[in-house]
Amino acid sequence: MVFEEQGIPMHLQKQPIPELNKGEILVKNLFTSICGSDLHTYCGLRQEKVPTVLGHEIVGEIVAFANEYNRLDYVGNALQIGDRVTWSIFSSDPESAMSKAGMPQKGERLFKYGHAQVSENDALHGGLSTHCILKTGTAVMPISKSVPLPVAAIINCAVTTVAGAIRLAGDISQKTILITGCGLLGMVCAAMCKQKGANYIHMADINANRLNLSKAFGADYLHMLDEKPGVLPQGIDIAFDMSGAPEAIEQGLNTLAVGATAVWVGSVFNTRKIQIDAESIVRRLITIKGLHNYNFEDFVTAVNFITDCHHLFPFDQVVTKEFPLSATNDAFGYAVKYKPLRVGINLEQSQ
Ligand SMILES: [Zn+2]
Repeated sequence: MVFEEQGIPMHLQKQPIPELNKGEILVKNLFTSICGSDLHTYCGLRQEKVPTVLGHEIVGEIVAFANEYNRLDYVGNALQIGDRVTWSIFSSDPESAMSKAGMPQKGERLFKYGHAQVSENDALHGGLSTHCILKTGTAVMPISKSVPLPVAAIINCAVTTVAGAIRLAGDISQKTILITGCGLLGMVCAAMCKQKGANYIHMADINANRLNLSKAFGADYLHMLDEKPGVLPQGIDIAFDMSGAPEAIEQGLNTLAVGATAVWVGSVFNTRKIQIDAESIVRRLITIKGLHNYNFEDFVTAVNFITDCHHLFPFDQVVTKEFPLSATNDAFGYAVKYKPLRVGINLEQSQ
């Protein structure tokens, strides 16, 4: 399903499956959830090299290995044809300095699924497609068939990004947490913090329905951010921003206790600059960290979290509506209009 540009419906394009290159794996896509960044591209808020195949929150099934492939997952266990797998949203050179420093998402030869240009020999790299070819330098992990497909699909973007944010935040146990932004990242963050023994979890957003849903993901206190500034509590140990909204980030900073940490994840689009009272940051010994995407350790953490804990939280309510691949344009239209946490493309229905 090829995306050309904003305002033009995506169209089905048939291409033969090419011969696999050394180290590649052919996967039949089973389910793809549509991420906020897919919607940004669809709405013209971010530019990709086009034509492209969108969709990077994918779960699939291994169909074939290239001949010389060692057939191991990221942690060294054997992979088989027929395994249900999820994989990192990018591949990069594991030998690059950035990869060795724990930042493979900024490594050399970076390739991102669902963001790449379609060419004659290389079109199978997005989730809105029947198949995907996994390149070398991609972390691949099997996922149990007991995890529902729409839950497995969100692992490699939303859940893994949150795993990275929590890694940066440090020890969560007994901490008072603030999460600004109650989209899927915020929900997952609440659930992971709950699971890691957070004392209190404060959730803040401008959407009352989403705030209410966050209670089932572990939130203890809900705060509507469209009220006057100062609505948020004080004494926060760790403030996660998943919204990217300057107002939320600024208010989040004001809540922090002495020695606290802010982790910013949501700021992946252009907004006004935020205002920081530097003196206040210094006197309170505040640490501010940013995270874009994640590393492979975070990916393994996310796979394990969903495998072990998905039934403890309503992850099966994240994808509120499913469409077949042929109705991808309807799915995007629905997502833009109704703003559910996720809509899904069920590729099993499509084949
Ligand atoms: Zn995403």
